[in-house]
Amino acid sequence: MEYEAVIGLEVHAQLLTKSKLFCSCSTNFGDEPNSNTCPVCLGLPGALPVLNQNAVNLSITLGLALNCDIQNESIWERKNYFYQDLPKGYQITQFQKPICLDGHLDIDLDGNSKRIGITRIHMEEDAGKSIHDDAGANASLVDLNRASVPLCEIVSEPDLRSAEEAGAYLRKLRSILRYSEVCDGNMEEGSMRCDANVSIRPVGQKEFGTRTELKNINSVKFVEKAIRYEIERQKAVLDSGEKVVQETRSYDNQKNTTFTMRSKEEAHDYRYFPDPDLVPLIVSDEWVQKQKDSLPELPEQKASRFVSDYKLSEYDAGVLTADKSLADYFETAVRTHNSPKKIANFIMTELMRELKNDEKEIDDCIVKPEHMGELVALIDSGDISGKIAKSVFEDMYKTGDSPKAIVEKKGLKQVSDSSAIEKMVDDVIAANPGQYEQYKAGKEALFGFFVGQVMKASKGQANPQMVNEVLKKKL
Ligand code: ADP
Ligand code: MG
Ligand code: ZN
Repeated sequence: MEYEAVIGLEVHAQLLTKSKLFCSCSTNFGDEPNSNTCPVCLGLPGALPVLNQNAVNLSITLGLALNCDIQNESIWERKNYFYQDLPKGYQITQFQKPICLDGHLDIDLDGNSKRIGITRIHMEEDAGKSIHDDAGANASLVDLNRASVPLCEIVSEPDLRSAEEAGAYLRKLRSILRYSEVCDGNMEEGSMRCDANVSIRPVGQKEFGTRTELKNINSVKFVEKAIRYEIERQKAVLDSGEKVVQETRSYDNQKNTTFTMRSKEEAHDYRYFPDPDLVPLIVSDEWVQKQKDSLPELPEQKASRFVSDYKLSEYDAGVLTADKSLADYFETAVRTHNSPKKIANFIMTELMRELKNDEKEIDDCIVKPEHMGELVALIDSGDISGKIAKSVFEDMYKTGDSPKAIVEKKGLKQVSDSSAIEKMVDDVIAANPGQYEQYKAGKEALFGFFVGQVMKASKGQANPQMVNEVLKKKL
């Protein structure tokens, strides 16, 4: 039987506030365990929560960036369960009435655009961290620095149909989170986390199949792999005449499999009820407008500006704006030397290839954007050829040195001195009398051979156009 996959994603994004959601403790990552705590986030009796206004600002901004309706009233509720990293015994979250509803995000896949619905965005506090694998401790450890750090949960409609679409959605969402400065989108550090709901149905069937929920996946690549695995697993289940069981499964990235965590029967009853310590969150239209007015440029707007300002193709503009840091890098380089098309080419071929090989991000790159501009300036002024520029770039990528310094140090400047080139041409002709005779006898294809020999003699530094001219004259 032919099946179609149906996928909906739940993404938790840690908001870039300085302090926690209901107290003034720092949200800084990597501090001494349990140092960023107070009676409120430790859940001590009598401590009362006070809402962080900036967390609300960021949530509204995110809602606007994802085309949601911002709700004038949302409610804080208690989600009750017991775990050692949840000292209050409940998580404060929004359930019945979240802050944002009905949004969408457009993904691009193979040049086609597809609109994915966003069901809702709600605000909530994070739990602490349980550490079970500290070898020295022989016990589980609890770090409450993360307890009550503000999160937004972004829930998509079940509109995705493949692992690739899910990957494109996550990349686009991460890009928007970073552009809008709501979240740093770092999946490895856990500031962006994704649960994937996956089901399959026979092609042509309207009703959705039974879904499973995949948890604990910490990179976009692993989300794609986990979904691919899960689709195949469900196909095998259905083809063998059995039924898919609704359950939560965990992804094992070492073995690339998913395994059962808990079934529907074990699902918690969270006993949600409105938190009596917190009044409803009222967001006025003026407040929403204020956030709208200060909304930063988003990826799609930046891409169309790159097309009109820099005359880039839509494809190039899309690649360069997919990541905000990369777009900033490009613009800084262009400010150094106004040659946008060439700079875009150099970034997209040389630089991005090296970064991809090293599995690095643009933020880890030691080549300064100003130096990238300077390098293209050296090509444009005729100081170095495009070919030499590539080897200079390799050096820049390894050392972080400026292209001028490298060209100087290695003596790579292009030879455009006509007498020097004439001398090289004479030498090459003298050294290849046989080819010279054949050329004279009419074998014109040998012209390229002579060009190659002169370039070789100059170690690639002769101005190729001048070599051509001089050779034509001399031959
Ligand atoms: P819960 O809160 O129990 O996880 P929700 O109804 O909020 O359940 O749905 C969570 C996610 O599951 C949403 O992203 C939604 O799009 C997705 N989803 C719902 N039904 C299906 C299905 N049959 N197949 C795949 N995804 C689904
Ligand atoms: Mg869920
Ligand atoms: Zn605190």
